[in-house]
Amino acid sequence: MPTYRFHEVKHQASKNLPCPACGKKLRRQRTFSQTLNPFNKNADDQVKTELEIVRELVVEAADWEKEPELHPRCRAEATS
Ligand SMILES: [Zn+2]
Repeated sequence: MPTYRFHEVKHQASKNLPCPACGKKLRRQRTFSQTLNPFNKNADDQVKTELEIVRELVVEAADWEKEPELHPRCRAEATS
């Protein structure tokens, strides 16, 4: 039986939002991904298509993009 390498669908996102603690811009980059495989199914129990996966990744990334983050140092100061 051959081994399959499942195709990984990726979406790269970035954000540049002010840190809520110090007000300076914080740049972040993140790659969202899902594999296209026979076990990755949607709510209708159908194998997700590449387009469906891309749409999900875009929604996920959009939520992440509008969520401000603290600099690691600002976070440490906020919790101390
Ligand atoms: Zn900060």
